[in-house]
Formats: sequence, C-alpha cells, structure tokens
Amino acid sequence: MSKTAPIRVKSTCPHDCPSACALEVEKLDERTIGRVYGAKDNSYTSGTLCAKVGNYAERVHHSGRLSKPLRRTGSKGVGLEAFVEISWEEALDEVSNRFKELSEKYGNETIWPHFYAGTMGLVQRDGIERLRHTMGYSRQHSTICSAASDAGWKVGTGAKRGVDAREIGDHSDVVVLWGTNAVHTQVNLMHHVAQACKRNAKLVVVDPYRNATAKRADLHIMLQPGSDGALATTLMHILLKEGLADRDYLAEFTDFSAELETHLDDKTPEWGEAITGVPAATIVEFARLIGQNPKSYYRFGYGFTRSRNGAFNMHAASCLPAITGAWKYKGGGALYSNAELFKLDKTLIVGSDVIDGNTRVLDQSRIGEILCGNPIDLQGGPPITGLLIQNTNPMMVSPSSLKVKKGFERNDLFVCVHEQFMTDTAAMADIVLPATTFLEHDDIYIAGGHTFLQVAKPVIEPYADARPNHYVICELSKRLGAEHPGFEMTTWELIDETLKRSGFPSAEEIYKNSWLDCARDFEEAHFLNGFETPDKKFHFSPDWSRLGKVNVSMPKYPDHYSVTDKRSDTKPYRLVTAPARQFLNSSFTETPTSQRREGRPTAKIHSDTCESLNLKDGGVVRIGNDQASVLVHVEVYDNLQKDVVIVESIWPNEHFVEGVGINSLVSSDPGHGIGGAVFHDTAVWLRREESQVA
Ligand code: SF4
Repeated sequence: MSKTAPIRVKSTCPHDCPSACALEVEKLDERTIGRVYGAKDNSYTSGTLCAKVGNYAERVHHSGRLSKPLRRTGSKGVGLEAFVEISWEEALDEVSNRFKELSEKYGNETIWPHFYAGTMGLVQRDGIERLRHTMGYSRQHSTICSAASDAGWKVGTGAKRGVDAREIGDHSDVVVLWGTNAVHTQVNLMHHVAQACKRNAKLVVVDPYRNATAKRADLHIMLQPGSDGALATTLMHILLKEGLADRDYLAEFTDFSAELETHLDDKTPEWGEAITGVPAATIVEFARLIGQNPKSYYRFGYGFTRSRNGAFNMHAASCLPAITGAWKYKGGGALYSNAELFKLDKTLIVGSDVIDGNTRVLDQSRIGEILCGNPIDLQGGPPITGLLIQNTNPMMVSPSSLKVKKGFERNDLFVCVHEQFMTDTAAMADIVLPATTFLEHDDIYIAGGHTFLQVAKPVIEPYADARPNHYVICELSKRLGAEHPGFEMTTWELIDETLKRSGFPSAEEIYKNSWLDCARDFEEAHFLNGFETPDKKFHFSPDWSRLGKVNVSMPKYPDHYSVTDKRSDTKPYRLVTAPARQFLNSSFTETPTSQRREGRPTAKIHSDTCESLNLKDGGVVRIGNDQASVLVHVEVYDNLQKDVVIVESIWPNEHFVEGVGINSLVSSDPGHGIGGAVFHDTAVWLRREESQVA
C-alpha cells in the first residue's frame, strides 16, 4: 500500500495507569503509526504523556509481536521455538474441546478465566467475565492491584471518586502525593502539580525513598514501608492538639467522637517517629503545612496499600482531609480514584445478570497456591485444570512467583493465553492466540485519575492474524454453548448499547466529540452533599464488613496496625518492589528503548548498609527470605532508610542474574480487610555474593 501523508487520529491509552491519556496517534498508512502525542485540547492530559507510549511504534511494530495462533509441541517455558503455527479454527476448537472435556470430568469450576488490566478498555478487558458467568466457571477475586486501596478508601468515604485533579493547578496551596511515584506512573498529574507550584503551592511527597517524584518535593516524608497509618494518626494528633482541626466540619460531615480524640491522645510526634522513622519535627512541619493550608489536595496512590495493613493505612490517610475540613475548599480534598464516577451499566459486557452466587471465587493473587492445589484456596472444589488468560502475565506479576511457576508446570493443566507477545506466561501455555493492541480494535475507557469517558476506534489494521479479545470470547462462547446477548454484538454495538443503558450519548457522538466529561459539580465532587455512606458521613470508625467478607477484625480507629511481615535478626531489611518508569507492570519490558533506559534489575541500598555488608556499587547482592533468594546488582543510594531496599521493577525473570524474578520473594498472603497483594511488605536478608557478577 502506498504511504499517505501522516494524519493524527484520536485514541485513548489503554494501559494500566490512572491517566487514561487522550491521544493523538500519527498514522503513516493503514498498518503503520509514527509518534504518539498527548491531546493538547484535553484539559487533564494537556498534551503530556509518558515516553513509553510516545514511542508506541516500537511496541506495536515490534518484531516479537505474535502473528499466528500457536500450539505448543515442545517443553513449557522455552518460548517461540517450542510452538507450531495453527489456524484460528484449530486453535479455538482445541481450546473449547479441552474445556468441555475438563468440565465433564471435574465440573465447570475446574476452568478459571484469569485476567487483569493489560488493557483498561472495558469490552476487551472485561468480556472474559461474561464467558465465565454464562459457563459457571470459577470466579476471580481481583486482588492484584486495587482491592486493598479500594476497601480503605471506600470504608470512610463510601465511594470510589474524589475531587477533580484539574483543581490543583489554580487552587491548591499544598499538594500531597502519598504513595504514588507520579513521575513514573501518572505523569500528567505532574503537569497540574507544576502549575500549582508556579503559584508557590507546596508539594509534599510521602514515600519510603527519594524517587523521581520526591526529588521535586518541598517536603519529602521518607517513612518506613507500612507505617503510613502511624504517620496519619500522628498528624491527626498534632492537628487536634494545635487547634488546626476544623471542628465545625467534623461535627457536620463526620462521625468524629470524643472517644476518637482520646484514642489519639498518646499518638505524639515521638510515637510517630519511633514507628515511621521520620523525625518528630518533620511530622510536625507536615501537620502544620496541611493544617494552616486547608486548600490541601491529597492524591493517594496504590503503592502504600500493597501491604498487609494497606487497606487500614489507606483509611487512616483518608481521614486527613476530613480532620482539616479540606473537602470544603476548591483545590482541597482528595482523590484516590474516580472509577465510580461514571456509573456505567456493564451488564452486557460482564454478564452480571447471569452470575451464579454459589460459584466459588478464587483469589487472583494466590494463583500459585491455587494451581498447586492448596485445598483452602480451592474451597473444597475441583482442582483448576483449565486456564484462559487474557490481559495479564501471572508468571511475572503474581506474588510467590516460584510457586506460580510450579503450578504452571503441572502436566495435567491446560492453558490458553491470548497475548501480544511471547510472555513468560504464554511460554507455559498449550495454545497461544495473537492479540490486537488498542490501536487495532474498538473500546470504551473510563479513568481513575480524571473525569473523561472516552471511546476509541482502531487507528490501523490488526497486525498479521492478531484478533481482539472480544472475538476470542464470542468464538469460544459459540463452541461452548454459552448464551448471552453480549456474544451476539460487535464491540461497537456493545459500547453503544452500554452507553445507552447508562443514560449517556451514543458511542458515535462521544467519539465525534473526542470524550465526555463526567465531572460532578463542586458540592458533589467535594462530598458537600454528604459522603456515600449510609448516614452520609465520613467514617473515622468504619464498618469494614459493609464492603464484603472481612478476613480479620480490624482496629476501631486509625492507628499503627502492626501486622506487616515481621523484621527479625535473620530478616532485618524491608523490600519494596516499586514501579520502574519505563515499564508498566510487565508491559513495555519487551521494547528496546525501555530496556535500555532501565538498564538492569538493581537494588537501591543505603551506603551504611553496603559498607556493613561489604557491598559495592555495581556488584551483586543476594536478597532472600523463606520463599526464595534473588541475585541482583547493587546501586548505593542514600535517599532511603538504612534498613529499606528498593528494587524498581517488574523486570522479566530472565533479566535477573539467575533467572529468578523479584516477585519470588513476595508473599501471597492476603492483605487484611478484604484481601489484596502485599508487594511492598517483605522482610528480607541481604548477603554479599562472593562471585561478584559483572
Ligand atoms: S501516562 Fe499512563 S495513560 Fe498516559 S500514555 Fe503513559 S501509560 Fe498511558
């Protein structure tokens, strides 16, 4: 085909990131893109986007894209050379026939559709749920990302929404980025923060290490991982003691009580320092900053909630804008996620009308335990013998990755993976199906970080024989005998009907207008008409059971909830597996530019610790615990507490010195509350490795 002059086609970034950037994609011809740009006329994206998506041509046109359906004929884990090409018909027939055989033998719960957020597009991501529910396959408790943070936020406020981040630029006097390395993970937010800083607003960053975002802060609170609840509780103590609480607001909008005030009485700055490792004077400085500037905007991230006490800590932190009455002011209040702002009726997409409540629900983050047959995880039901995987790479991203690998190695497990690349998980599959990228299919997107609903059409033709998730789900439904109106619709029809049922304009109209801004008015966005709890108040003393089945009883009030992986003489350090800038979970780990910019897996370790262990910058260290040990290169880094180790990841396992990835060290224990993966809650030992690998 002859090349035409580049035009820009609008689209939406589908990656697992709160920004859901409005994009303009340079289209070079029907099959080729050029640069990708952030839409300048979208008031949140504001022309900003991350480098990895700006350079998306490298990913979509990567020579490693899967082009044909594949059947494995060689050993598991080898990669492309262990597979032969087959037709789509053969592949889909084989998957459905195997699923039927396995269902006949063990019952339908033996099949587990397993997915997550490789795309955030609602049709291509969530359609697998419709197949699950119509077939009565095992359900999934999605715990790998936001279960703990959702619980902690919603238990106080009642709803997963908050103040529009566009208020920051013109109105906030203080911006608090808590547990989010926004420069790495939601770069657009920094545009709005920069606007505020030009007006002399102060930026506070709460994070265990001086990451790229903390380097820009006026005040960096460098706390111990898992001590956020203690920090928030101490701040509440100081705000009340120094007369910086808004008592009128507390009386009108919250369940604040004398009992809570008594509880906070001994949570002094010194108490906080002993737990968080942050000097008492610094905690007082932080408290005064937010107390004297009620137009303080808190942007809470997921990072600090990936701990056994993560849900509890999120709730504790979310108490702060209530104590100071920050919610009352333009530029004040908080945002964790806006996912519940949009109120879409997703029945057609996920098949929520056909859910059988008796079907077991398996914890996604315990996939290793589940595949290895832990009877508690299997809940008395059959073993998992069939997996259908879309939009996730559990061999890399799941906790206890060695156990996950062991599970995938089972000879009696049949696995179908629908993917864009030969990932570590695809290499363990029996059948691999090539998947389209967002540039090659329709979808609809909401966002965590802003208020825009977006609809996107394909920009280019599908690569080779790659097909969308919706195609795979509908084709399998035909073969398996699953019936639901959603299987009879095209992706575009599903989007359009979903919008119609939700009271929104048509898909075509939203696409024509580029997006639909679903922002609520000031009172509603700031919960000034009441929070979304039963009594419309913010809850300092929440009822956790309102959110579902609670796995342990939680303390009544914000506090230090000391349930993290215990440090000991044999495991004296705390490991945090923070997000790398050039990767997004396991996506982008295949692109040469991301790999080059990240270098190699590296452990940031304090110089005093390095000295005591005779570790050298550029040498290697063995990091270990009861589960595994990992060999990784050392970066001497003083901007963290001496007993904290940071490994920015997620690097594919093969990039580690011994081929064992960082998640082998992470426990699959569920977070307290309603679960959640505990990626940043790992006590470890460090050892100098005698052979210092180059
Ligand atoms: S910042 Fe996030 S949403 Fe925007 S382009 Fe990058 S990954 Fe996508």
